[in-house]
Amino acid sequence: MLHKKPFHVMIIPTLGCPSKCSYCWSSEEGSPVMSIETVSDIVEWLKDFRDDPVTFTFHGGEPLLAGADFYRKALPMLTENLSHLSPNFALQTNLWRLTPELAQVLAEFKIPIGSSLDGPKDLNDSQRSEGYYERTMRGYEIARENGLQVQFICTFTSHSVKFKEEIFSYFLENGLTLKLHPALPSLRSSDPEKWALDPEEYGELLVYLLDKYIENMDRIEVRNINDYCRCVFTGRGTVCTFVDCMENTFAVGPDGSIYPCYRFVGMPEYVMGNVRDRPSREDLARSSAGQRMLQFKEYVNRECKKCKHIRYCRGGCPYNAIAPTGGEIKGVDPHCVAYKRIFDEISERLNREMMGSFGLEMGGTSATSTRGAGPGVMSLMRMLASK
Ligand code: SF4
Ligand code: SF4
Repeated sequence: MLHKKPFHVMIIPTLGCPSKCSYCWSSEEGSPVMSIETVSDIVEWLKDFRDDPVTFTFHGGEPLLAGADFYRKALPMLTENLSHLSPNFALQTNLWRLTPELAQVLAEFKIPIGSSLDGPKDLNDSQRSEGYYERTMRGYEIARENGLQVQFICTFTSHSVKFKEEIFSYFLENGLTLKLHPALPSLRSSDPEKWALDPEEYGELLVYLLDKYIENMDRIEVRNINDYCRCVFTGRGTVCTFVDCMENTFAVGPDGSIYPCYRFVGMPEYVMGNVRDRPSREDLARSSAGQRMLQFKEYVNRECKKCKHIRYCRGGCPYNAIAPTGGEIKGVDPHCVAYKRIFDEISERLNREMMGSFGLEMGGTSATSTRGAGPGVMSLMRMLASK
């Protein structure tokens, strides 16, 4: 049987967003909204494009600005006409515009929702915008009343990282799964580094979260730590940052333009084609953006070849690597330092613990095997294996 590869299409109904988060690099007010004809073009484009199972993620800007009617038409259209690709859906939103009507449409298709919350109200609003927390919580209530699953992504900035203990406690005490995202330099700001999280600090934050997670494993899930551990335990990446995302991920902008990922939407130099022209995989790979993505893959093969984590890290995120340099491939993802830090930490602890348990079997004592080694990652490995 042929191995099926995960295939991801991000649909960006608009780049507009009603919030003005301080570090956001994507929102454009008054931006046009995707028409239902463009959704129909997406269907036609994908009918014979490839036969791997597809996940559609609605992303933005703020995808709920497209309104209930858009989803009422788009979701059955994609589901019924592409049933041979077994479509799954996800949606990333700040929840401000969620109405009971929209929630019912999304619930009918059991769409898991990702939202954003940077921690307790004052901290969140100081870096997102005044009133953000309450608006998001109002939407969260509507989502829950309608049986929708919501998980929050927490953006850590150069400012909020100083409050990592409060942020972790907030997620723990409120029973929320923690998924974190490091703030990137904003390409549209006059001071792009102001909010960006320094890669070394990001590495230390990940190690801190590894410890806190293991201490509280029965009370919280820290998604990124799961992802890093799965990489080390299985030798395979499971999220886009840690696989070769090129050729398996695409994004469609409001006007039907195809890009390598939602992060490039709105950057004309990264347009690979348009859904109305039904480009094939080869057509997209031949576009200059497609070529640039492949050049990144070759660059990683050369530059990271001595790194013991290359098999699953794959140079990190190509957007992080090439967008800030105006498209020139001069380095891997700047978060390399953080990735190495956490991958090394997990593999060293795992080796130490395995040697310790081997020593015990051979008649040693636990004191010599794990003393000072910090909390155990093997328990995390067992928990992940049982899922
Ligand atoms: S460019 Fe980065 S964020 Fe986009 S799919 Fe690739 S790894 Fe993921
Ligand atoms: S950790 Fe750094 S050097 Fe190693 S594969 Fe990832 S980006 Fe390359």
